[in-house]
Amino acid sequence: MADFIPEEKISEIRNAADIVEIISEAVVLKKTGRNLVGLCPFHAEKTPSFSVNPEKQIFYCFGCATGGNVFSFLMKQQGMTFPEAVKAVAQRCGIELPSREMSPLERRRLSEREVLLGLNRKTMAFYSGVLKDPAAGRTARAYLEKRGFAPAIVDRFELGYAPEGWDALIRHFRADRERLQLMEKAGLVIPRKTGSGYYDRFRDRIIFPIRNAAHQVIAFGGRVLDDGLPKYLNSPETSIYTKRRSLYGIDQAREHCRKNETVLVVEGYFDLLALHQHGIQNAVATLGTALTPEHVRILRGCIGENGTVVLVYDSDAAGIQAAQRSIGVFDQGYADARICVLPPGHDPDSFLFEFGAAAFEQAAAKAQGIIPFLMAAAVARHGLSVDGKVQIVSELTDAIAALQDPMARSLYVKSLAERIQVDESAILERVRSRVGAKPAGGAHPRPRAPAGAGGSRPPLSAQQFDRFETRVVMMMLQYPQILPEIRQRRLLDLFENEALRSVGKMTLRWEGDPDGLNRAIDSTADADIQKLVASLVLEDTPWDHRGCLKLLDQFENSRKNKDHTILEKIKAAEKRGDHEQWLKLLQQKQAQIEKS
Ligand SMILES: [Zn+2]
Repeated sequence: MADFIPEEKISEIRNAADIVEIISEAVVLKKTGRNLVGLCPFHAEKTPSFSVNPEKQIFYCFGCATGGNVFSFLMKQQGMTFPEAVKAVAQRCGIELPSREMSPLERRRLSEREVLLGLNRKTMAFYSGVLKDPAAGRTARAYLEKRGFAPAIVDRFELGYAPEGWDALIRHFRADRERLQLMEKAGLVIPRKTGSGYYDRFRDRIIFPIRNAAHQVIAFGGRVLDDGLPKYLNSPETSIYTKRRSLYGIDQAREHCRKNETVLVVEGYFDLLALHQHGIQNAVATLGTALTPEHVRILRGCIGENGTVVLVYDSDAAGIQAAQRSIGVFDQGYADARICVLPPGHDPDSFLFEFGAAAFEQAAAKAQGIIPFLMAAAVARHGLSVDGKVQIVSELTDAIAALQDPMARSLYVKSLAERIQVDESAILERVRSRVGAKPAGGAHPRPRAPAGAGGSRPPLSAQQFDRFETRVVMMMLQYPQILPEIRQRRLLDLFENEALRSVGKMTLRWEGDPDGLNRAIDSTADADIQKLVASLVLEDTPWDHRGCLKLLDQFENSRKNKDHTILEKIKAAEKRGDHEQWLKLLQQKQAQIEKS
C-alpha cells in the first residue's frame, strides 16, 4: 500500500505533523527533561512510563515496549492502516493528497475498514437528511423538541431518523449484491430468515451516530419514538466497532475532560445530550455495557494521572450494582472513581431539565469513592442492629477484598470497623479469607508484568541485547557527532547482533538528514526494530565526546580481544591435535569474517 502515497508526500506530512499535539489528544503529557511523559494508552500503569520525544518526533513506552513515530501511534491507537494514518495526519495539517480515480486493483486494496467507514458516513448523511426533511422527519423532530433538545444539540451530534418501512436505506443506496454484503458487515441490514434478501436494521427510530475519538462514525444507536420495544437498538459488533472500547461522545468530551481533570460517565444517549445542552461537556455514555478496563484506560488518557471518573446513576440499586462490578476494573486501571446517585426517580436527563446545570454539578461534586459509597449504602439499607452489622460486613467483605493494594484494604477495614463499631480484627479476618479467592464480578487478577503489545511474543527490550552494542547504537542515535568515527573505524562490522547492526546501518545511511530517523522507522517493516529504535532514542543519556570515544575504544578492544582469543584457541587446538575443536573454532572465525 505504500505505493499508494508517494514517499516524498509521506515525509512532507510527517514533518508537518506534531507528534506531541496528536498524542496529547489521547494522553495527558508532562514535560521532563528532553521528553514528555504520560500514562501509556496501551497498558495499565500507575506511574507514567510512556515517553514522547518532540525533537525526534518519536514515542516509546518503557512499560510495554510499544514505540514508533506519529503514524505508528495512530495505527496502534486507532486501529488504522498505514495509509489511513498518513491520510488522517495529512487532513489535520491541511495537506492535500494527490487524488485520482482509483484503479480496480487499488480499489480492492482499499481496506475494508475504510469502505465500512465510508458506508457509515453516507448512512449518517441519509438519516440526518430524513430528520431534516419537512414531511418525513416531522414526527421525529417533534419528539426531540418535546424532550427539550435544541436544534444546536441535534446538529452537534448529527442525529437522524430512520424512516418506517423495511428497506428505506437499501432503496436509498440502490444496493446491489456486493453493496448489500458490505451493509451487512457494517451491521446496517439483516438477512431475511426466509427466502433471500435483506431488510434495514433501523426502522422508525431516532438515530444516534456513534463515533470514535477520531470522529469517524463506527456504529449507530436507534431509539423508538413511542413505548415500543426494544427501546434502544445498537449496531452489532463489526470489524470497526468494538463495544468494550467505545464510548458515546468521546470525540466531543476529550478536550473538556482534560481541562476539568474529570469525566462524567452516564448511561444513555439522552443523558449525554442533556449534559451538553446544559453546557457540561466533559462526559461520555457507556450505552448499556458495564464499564470495561479498556474504557477506563481510554478515560484515563483524557483526564490524566490524577483525574477522576464520576459514574452517574439514577438509583441506589443501579449505583450499588455498578459499584460492585467496577471495583476491580478501576483498581486495575489505577483510576480514581466516584459514584454519584441522583435523587429517586431521576436520570441525568430528567434531573438536568428539572433542576439545571448548577444543581447537577453540586450533586456530582458530592460523589463518593466506590467503597465509601457502598459502605454508606449498606448502612442505610441494613441499619446498625446486630443483624444489620452482620449483613453490612458480609456485603463489604468481597468489595474490600477485591482491592489489590493491601494498604487500601487495611484502611477501609479500619474505617468500616469504626463506622459500625465492630472489632477491626473480626472484619480483617473475613477480608483475608476472601483475598485471593475469586473476586467479586468484573475483577480479574492483575497480570504480573505489563501486558505485551498484543502479540504472544514478549516485547523486545534493549536489555535482551548485547550491552556494549546497545550502548554504541544508542550513542549513534542520540549523539550524531560520533557517526564519522563509527564509519571510519568500521565498528558496525564488529557487531554480533543483527537487529542492532541493522539499526546502526540505517543510522549511518540517513546521517545528516533530520528526517532520517523517522524514515528509518517507516522503511522497516519489522515492528521489533521500530520499537528498538524508539527505545534507544528515548533513553535519556547525556553524552560527551571524550566519554564516547572511550566507550568506543572499550568496545573495539573487547571485540578484538575476543577475536584474539579465538585465534589463540585455534592455535592451541592445533597443537593438541584436537581436530574436532580446531574445525569448530575455524568455522566460528570464518563466520565472523563473512559477517564483516
Ligand atoms: Zn505501555
